[in-house]
Amino acid sequence: MTTAYNDTSTERVPGRAWTIRLTGHADRTAAVTCSTAACRMPPRSKDIAALRAFAAQHAAAHARAATVRPHAYCHCGSQRCAAHPGTPTHCAGTVVLILRHDPTVGRVWSVEEVCAACAPLIPHVTVLARAAARPPRTTDKPPAPRTPAPTPASASAGQAVPGGFSSPATTSFSDGDEARPARRPGRALRPARRRRPGRA
Ligand SMILES: [Zn+2]
Ligand SMILES: [Zn+2]
Ligand SMILES: [Zn+2]
Repeated sequence: MTTAYNDTSTERVPGRAWTIRLTGHADRTAAVTCSTAACRMPPRSKDIAALRAFAAQHAAAHARAATVRPHAYCHCGSQRCAAHPGTPTHCAGTVVLILRHDPTVGRVWSVEEVCAACAPLIPHVTVLARAAARPPRTTDKPPAPRTPAPTPASASAGQAVPGGFSSPATTSFSDGDEARPARRPGRALRPARRRRPGRA
């Protein structure tokens, strides 16, 4: 390869990756580690569920804090596409920010900048964000994260369901949607609730 990038304004940078791991120990405790050494992690604990929740939220927090850079190299490609060995491809397209997490293993969360060609080939991936079509000017500030308005959850939560007979004719208005929270595709903008495990 003799391709040279002389245009400094579009200088390519390596794709970033953050890896959060849940590591078990012999004494049945576990610990969460992040590839960013500066991150504060909770102490070792036997409360695996709490640590797992922390790890998932920590990965989401890294994803939210990262602005996808349109001139980043594909992190997957830089690893020789080891994440999808059976389906080789050539890196192309816009840069996307992905979350990799295999729920059956449940121990590793990876947030990575990869290309649009690799992203759909990597198993257990959620695309969190895409690079802007055009590189943002340095004077532009990233949009402030939207704070979701408090939802009037009490309206439905306080609604008691009568235990007796309900007329089938009256059920058509709800279609059962209320029971299922609408999942919005795309980016997760919910603020991470950081629970610090009981530490003095
Ligand atoms: Zn971290
Ligand atoms: Zn790849
Ligand atoms: Zn790629």
